[in-house]
Amino acid sequence: MVRYAYGLSMGEKSSGGSLKMKKVGFIGLGNMGLPMANNILKADIEVNAFDLLKDAMQRADELGIKTKSSASEVTENIDALITMLPNDKAVENIFLKEGLLEKISKSTIVIESSTINPEVSKKVSKKAKEMNISMLDAPVSGGVKGAELGSLTFIVGGEEADLEKAAPLFKIMGDKIFYAGKAGSGQIAKLCNNMLLAIHMCGTAETIAMGVNNGLDPVILSEIMKNSSGGNWSLEKYNPFPGVMKGAPASNNYSGGFLNSLMLKDLNLAEELANQSKSNTPMGKLARELYEELNNQGFEGLDFSSVQQNYLDK
Ligand code: NAD
Repeated sequence: MVRYAYGLSMGEKSSGGSLKMKKVGFIGLGNMGLPMANNILKADIEVNAFDLLKDAMQRADELGIKTKSSASEVTENIDALITMLPNDKAVENIFLKEGLLEKISKSTIVIESSTINPEVSKKVSKKAKEMNISMLDAPVSGGVKGAELGSLTFIVGGEEADLEKAAPLFKIMGDKIFYAGKAGSGQIAKLCNNMLLAIHMCGTAETIAMGVNNGLDPVILSEIMKNSSGGNWSLEKYNPFPGVMKGAPASNNYSGGFLNSLMLKDLNLAEELANQSKSNTPMGKLARELYEELNNQGFEGLDFSSVQQNYLDK
């Protein structure tokens, strides 16, 4: 048995692995879901899918994905069900209110990949367990590009044996899997990561602006910090200052990438998690306020590195 407990890289891409999957259901064909479903299809696995939006269904049809007229129709004769939904409400509605769990066969493994409140994730997993259905929370990191390239990181909570069953699918859609612990742990780890991401993005943006305000060249300053003790992912991969890094959203009017609205959603969830666990997170709270301000200014559709704008002369 392969253990994935501590984030081993998964090596070669899979076309289904030893536990060959024949048919997979997919619910939520948005920016992330559609390319993920498409990668499964490209690995020669039939995909049944559903989304509330007609446009999303049409795009899926064009790729050869079999669209169905309801979420429950998606569940017929599938080996695995993947959900990639916007928020808690959508996940609760689908699994609990609309009773999707009742339609799912006991041999189907459920992979819930949306970023949601860990408590909601635990509640849905508990209900699934009561019904003898295997369920993993498996939020992702890597954004739309990662979804398209099949290079996502899956951060998984649930039973390790279920992770083993789902691994062939993770290998198709991603490059790395991390086992975080029992049900809900995947969501907790994902929120910890995104809170830190927001903090170092804000810190990076304000630091570059201070250097520029004092006459430094942002390219040279970024290079110095990247190679010194201030080095971090935002500086290395995602420089927020316009024109410093080719291909980064900052060099493309902050379009594409990871939206401010989604970052605010994750920071709200992180704050709830902090409150509920009585964790002291002053930096996380401040980052949440900065992203709330950006969203209130009407920038919810820009990439999250656009926080840089609030440190520049307007
Ligand atoms: P999105 O809004 O583009 O897609 C969500 C899709 O779910 C939409 O097409 C919507 O119509 C559909 N949907 C909503 N309720 C539904 C229902 N009841 N039945 C069927 N379909 C339904 O969002 P996204 O960017 O694809 O993100 C999906 C999830 O992944 C979110 O939880 C997000 O936080 C997380 N995430 C996003 C990114 C990113 O860069 N976009 C990165 C990592 C994680």
